[in-house]
Amino acid sequence: EITLQLEGLTKTYLPGTPGEIQVLRGADLTLRAGEVVALVAPSGAGKSTLLQIAGLLDTADGGRVCIGGQDMAGAGERKRTAVRRQDVGFVYQFHHLLPEFTALENIVLPQLADGVPQRQAEARGADLLALVGLAGRAAHRPAALSGGEQQRVAVCRALANRPRILLADEPTGNLDPATSDQVFDVLLQLVAETGLSALIATHNLELAARMNRVLRLENGVLQDG
Ligand code: ADP
Ligand code: ADP
Repeated sequence: EITLQLEGLTKTYLPGTPGEIQVLRGADLTLRAGEVVALVAPSGAGKSTLLQIAGLLDTADGGRVCIGGQDMAGAGERKRTAVRRQDVGFVYQFHHLLPEFTALENIVLPQLADGVPQRQAEARGADLLALVGLAGRAAHRPAALSGGEQQRVAVCRALANRPRILLADEPTGNLDPATSDQVFDVLLQLVAETGLSALIATHNLELAARMNRVLRLENGVLQDG
């Protein structure tokens, strides 16, 4: 089952100006259920751009994005938002947890926004926290958690609404190597348990080597690496 398909994506920033930059020049990608793919490239190569387009947070100039077999060409903003909320989870380099809410609440809130009843959302949140080894941190606010713990909560939040696809942009980029390994272990375990597919941008070649496949973004196209 193909969860994410990108075909011939092109993207140019600031077209027609001296700052014009052609970031994507025909990027193709097929992501299958249960697959974990590393996206490796130097800084500035366009990894974030690609992830934002794949996750329907941005649009390409040309090419196609299909999510769960649905071609998003011609889909309006309402449809794009619905598919993004249902099918895509994001994790960033910084956790972006809401500071005034607890770890559990941060995982519950997106579910409530999605119409899940409170009790069910809390049960799901508690399950996810337990899976990442944070059952004892449910009532802590983000500021009271370590960097690795914050990122593990961010991973739980991304998976709260049971997306098909996890998109992660340097998810362990500001963690030390040991913590980074730990967060990554948890991420791989969750992917294995949920059959999710994941596209993970990273600079860390050791982490990349633990994934099913490595793709390199070079000169605006994706190549097996
Ligand atoms: P990466 O994630 O690989 O570091 P990005 O996708 O963030 O790369 O950026 C790719 C290139 O596009 C960079 O040169 C960046 O400066 C440029 N860029 C990114 N977003 C914009 C934007 N909104 N406007 C203009 N240029 C941008
Ligand atoms: P709303 O504004 O109604 O919350 P959005 O389309 O902005 O809907 O957000 C949908 C999902 O995408 C949310 O889970 C949100 O966290 C994520 N999201 C949207 N824009 C960004 C962004 N620029 N950076 C990070 N996450 C974003």
